[in-house]
Amino acid sequence: RVALQAFLDRRWPEPAPRAGRSRLLVLAGPTAVGKGTVAAHIKAHHPGILLSVSATTRTPRPGEVEGEHYFFVDDAEFDRLIASGALLENATVHNTHRYGTPKAPIDAALAEGRTVLLEIDLQGARQVRAAAPDATLVFLLPPSWDELVQRLVGRGTEDEEERARRLRTARRELAAQGEFDYLVVNDEVARAAEEVAALAR
Ligand code: 5GP
Repeated sequence: RVALQAFLDRRWPEPAPRAGRSRLLVLAGPTAVGKGTVAAHIKAHHPGILLSVSATTRTPRPGEVEGEHYFFVDDAEFDRLIASGALLENATVHNTHRYGTPKAPIDAALAEGRTVLLEIDLQGARQVRAAAPDATLVFLLPPSWDELVQRLVGRGTEDEEERARRLRTARRELAAQGEFDYLVVNDEVARAAEEVAALAR
């Protein structure tokens, strides 16, 4: 019995944070799950983590700053970035604009031992996995399907067809969660952000 108690009382080591995976963290998840908000929280509270700044062909929204939120480029420039091998991954998101992750800043930060966070879509996450198989892939989940539906259609500004299209997309995106190393539930932004940031240790 004493031996059993000693066994039970023993302090087992904490599981290793990334279990052999690299400091390249990829945050993906279904449309409207709140990836951008979680990434912004991590940027604000963990200055040591580099939040990658993507190139995009979409136009800036009010308040968006060149080089801080995105590098805003035209199609020709985006083509040049791809042709010169400057992008780690790139994708056309929601069938409209193109987005891609500049490779050089990531390589430099990783070489310095820093953690890098990419907030990208599912197609991009798959490309990163193919290019860097040891990357740490995190999938952000809604607290429930109903909650995601609320976040997707809540504003009531879309017509029935558009709502149905978004829900089909979300269902397909959720089905990809098994491809990821970690699942994090976005029930509360600060908590979810800390769970992701903990992988940077
Ligand atoms: P938004 O235009 O609202 O800033 O972003 C739209 C979508 O593009 C989001 O789902 C975001 O995750 C995705 N995105 C942003 N940057 C990149 C990128 O560099 N690569 C990929 N594949 N997706 C991105």
